Amino acid sequence: MIKTYYKKLISEKIRNRIHDLIRKIKGLFLRGNQFYCNCCSHSFRKFLPKGNGIELRNNAICPHCGSLERTRLLYFYLCNETKIFNSQPFVLHIAPEQTLKNKFKTNPNYYDVDINPQLATYQVDITKTSFGDNTFDFIICSHVLGHIKNEKQAINELYRILKKDGKLFTLTLINVQSEHTFEDQNIETETKKTQSYGEKDLERLHGRDFIKRLASPQVDVQQIDYRLHFSADDNLKYSLGNGNREIIYVSTKI
Ligand SMILES: [Zn+2]
Repeated sequence: MIKTYYKKLISEKIRNRIHDLIRKIKGLFLRGNQFYCNCCSHSFRKFLPKGNGIELRNNAICPHCGSLERTRLLYFYLCNETKIFNSQPFVLHIAPEQTLKNKFKTNPNYYDVDINPQLATYQVDITKTSFGDNTFDFIICSHVLGHIKNEKQAINELYRILKKDGKLFTLTLINVQSEHTFEDQNIETETKKTQSYGEKDLERLHGRDFIKRLASPQVDVQQIDYRLHFSADDNLKYSLGNGNREIIYVSTKI
């Protein structure tokens, strides 16, 4: 009941700030050198765990900036392999991770968007945006498509607003054991979604066919396991995940 009143009385934006503050305070007690976050340049004895009753991931969350395994790996990839931080490209960042959003502070052509107006600067439904054709040099779409009912419509819309030679970076939860994506419209409750898809607000659990779902005559799609660019020690030190959530799919518009 206390939780219900807390949610009713305090906006999501403020609740997230309180959550961030508590996380940072926890970090004060975790100082050390075993783990290093490349997103915020802080090191810790351990990162914080993340779990939902189905799966517990140890050393997942950076206490200082809140980055996850996939956030740290994606930031390495963006810095080392793209020109997203050079000059001022047009960037669309969907469901923005705050720590990545901070990297674009000086870029006037950066747009962070979410369907929930509490979570980003602009409220945008990515199945139907008002951006013109060929607008963006880069689009970051991490752990979004699995949550969208009409995934194909969102993918087509993102390709429409991507410039020629522009790149869309997509990440999602993948069941690497399964060739095929699993979705069933009868799975509606949070409990059933958690049991079937692994998270309470997913609409499907992607399988190894995810790359085919991204395919279109408009793009060339590459599947990149960027963890392989790092030694086993560095995978542990930066905590870059087990590959279920961290594969980077790069769609280049042709
Ligand atoms: Zn961090």
